[in-house]
Amino acid sequence: MSAEDSIILDGAHGEGGGQILRTALSLSLHTGRPFRLTAIREHRDKPGLRPQHLLAVVAAQRLGAAYVEGAQVGSRELWFEPKQSVGPGSYFFDIGTAGSTLLVLQTLLPSLLSASGPSTLTLCGGTHNVKAPPFEFVERVFLPRLAQLGHRVAMELVRPGFYPLGGGKLTVSIQPSAELRPLSLLERGEVRALTAEILVSRLPQHVARREQATLCQLLGLSIAACPIRSLGSSLGPGNAVLVQIESDSGPELFSAIGERGVPAERVASTCAEEVSAYLAAEVPVGEHLADQLILPLALAKGGRYLTTQPSLHTLTQIETVRAFLPVEISVQPAGPCAHLISVNV
Ligand code: ATP
Repeated sequence: MSAEDSIILDGAHGEGGGQILRTALSLSLHTGRPFRLTAIREHRDKPGLRPQHLLAVVAAQRLGAAYVEGAQVGSRELWFEPKQSVGPGSYFFDIGTAGSTLLVLQTLLPSLLSASGPSTLTLCGGTHNVKAPPFEFVERVFLPRLAQLGHRVAMELVRPGFYPLGGGKLTVSIQPSAELRPLSLLERGEVRALTAEILVSRLPQHVARREQATLCQLLGLSIAACPIRSLGSSLGPGNAVLVQIESDSGPELFSAIGERGVPAERVASTCAEEVSAYLAAEVPVGEHLADQLILPLALAKGGRYLTTQPSLHTLTQIETVRAFLPVEISVQPAGPCAHLISVNV
């Protein structure tokens, strides 16, 4: 494709974070259309490309043999022009910091799912990061939804990685499928199980015990339904609180990542609040899954799902997808707390 087919995106628009960049990289690789992104991460404390965003650019560049301008840490503007369609292969990328490997996966997965054969991907960096999907969310929630579309993806956590040391590692095996189906998630149905887990690595036991006590009290769980699991092999200390909900419509998972200076009780209560809001809304799809489903649906056969009030991430994601693809995406209120997102391809 020539520069005339290129797309100009304003990185300060809407949510104004890294997601516009990642989605543009995914869709540029998929469509072959070049793009220019200006005002990259304008709304963030440290604007411009951070190491994890740069790694997403470099990885996408390698997959699409792309011509790129502006690929440096701190860069506020990027030109990305893929020169070949993405082929299957065995790929390895190391972020080099604790940046989220799952967000790099989010960038690369769409094009590897449409490659002509199976691929494996190994990513090193953070696996449980603040403001990013933790490994378990992707494995237990996102991948089962992709499987409903017809994609076969499996992943393994080789080693956890936490901020600031990183050093985590995961492997992903990707089997593209030609037989894709639309997704329909219009009812949550009955909640069949609600279980929690406290993941800890290299931290005193009392941190996990305090999180466990808070979570059990706020969600009415027994201690047995909220085990503490040690992830002892990480380079540095780290901690995550996970709550998984199994309903007739499938799995959802909510999480909070322990941070230095944030009391264990607050980590657990943040997660419990998200769980309670999700349960009260009686929808199948939570806030984070809602923004992450738009791209795979737009690249497959579309679909519809009920979710909570759409986040700015979701609204920005819809606009970025529309800039690249001729899809119709609508968001309509569907009850006091529910919204219906429809993706028609
Ligand atoms: P920036 O540093 O520019 O804010 P970023 O590149 O770190 O950006 P965002 O643009 O904020 O990332 O996008 C974060 C992505 O992570 C979104 O898709 C969001 O849904 C997802 N996410 C954040 N928190 C969670 C969570 N607890 N569970 C699942 N997904 C999450």
